[in-house]
Amino acid sequence: MKYTTLGKSGLTVSVVGLGGIPVQRIDVTATKKLIDALISKGVNFIDSARGYTVSEEYLGEALSGRREKFILATKSMARSAADMARDIDISLKNFRTDHIELYQLHNLGLKDIERAFADDGAVAAIQDAIRAGKVGHLGVTAHSPEALRKVLDYPEVETVMFPFNIVENQAAEAMQIAKERNIGFIAMKPLAGGNITNGRLAIRYILNDANCTMAIPGMYCAEEVEQNTSAVDDLSPLTEAELAEIAAIRDKLSDNFCRRCGYCAPCTVGIDIPACFTMANYLENYELADWARSRYFSYQAHAEDCIGCGKCEERCPYQLPIREKLQEIKVIFGK
Ligand code: SF4
Ligand code: SF4
Repeated sequence: MKYTTLGKSGLTVSVVGLGGIPVQRIDVTATKKLIDALISKGVNFIDSARGYTVSEEYLGEALSGRREKFILATKSMARSAADMARDIDISLKNFRTDHIELYQLHNLGLKDIERAFADDGAVAAIQDAIRAGKVGHLGVTAHSPEALRKVLDYPEVETVMFPFNIVENQAAEAMQIAKERNIGFIAMKPLAGGNITNGRLAIRYILNDANCTMAIPGMYCAEEVEQNTSAVDDLSPLTEAELAEIAAIRDKLSDNFCRRCGYCAPCTVGIDIPACFTMANYLENYELADWARSRYFSYQAHAEDCIGCGKCEERCPYQLPIREKLQEIKVIFGK
């Protein structure tokens, strides 16, 4: 394993960490084996979320007696100070610890920034928790390039997490700025939500980018840990053969892959288009059907509500056939 400094947090992290979403589909026994595999490969960073149902709890139990081997990161969708303070305490209890190294604002959108950074916003609660020793550092996760760019201007932000992989490079400019400002950049969705199957190539691609600090592939078993960490053995520049494979992956996925950039918004009837695509992906590629269904059904509008106006397709820079894909999603979820 190779280690690096996570921006101005100063944390020393393995360049490959665990993305904790798939922990939801295993049990505590399997989570203990996953932790064994992480330790054996030198992985020292685990990311979870209040929103990943049982993930924090399973990890907390599996980490019993070896908590000190890991840097724990988690996140909350809370935007007010009171809600964030409550969520931090829940995360501490779930992880069975008195200190979480990195607490993040989860999926911060442009419209949430003012609220979260207000005097009584979620950021204030994380800063209180830092002063109280419950939390080490403050980070932000986002899916919108505009939101990512904006949070880089807040000096409190020590790390950012954003999708970055062979087919998603919409963060390129922000990654450069993050590097210049010493803000750690954590690449989420390194395998493009399961669409890229060559984990070694996917991780090598990401870690070859000097502006990216680390990648956190979602993993649930020793075999996945083995494949995703194998890339770290050789971080030499990408070979001609690898560049050709990357071009082929882009060709294959480019016409049909949602980058979650959000440019298609606003939908005329209020459908969160990228969220619908993401949940369909989780249902089909990640064996997270129950979780994906519960998230999807919680949305205010669904694929069946699409009136076919086509406004979203005019705005999508990747010319995705959004209406056609929503029809497929309607069949997948039955709504
Ligand atoms: S075509 Fe459907 S999804 Fe697109 S903006 Fe119109 S109603 Fe929304
Ligand atoms: S459908 Fe197109 S515009 Fe909308 S988030 Fe996906 S890639 Fe971006």
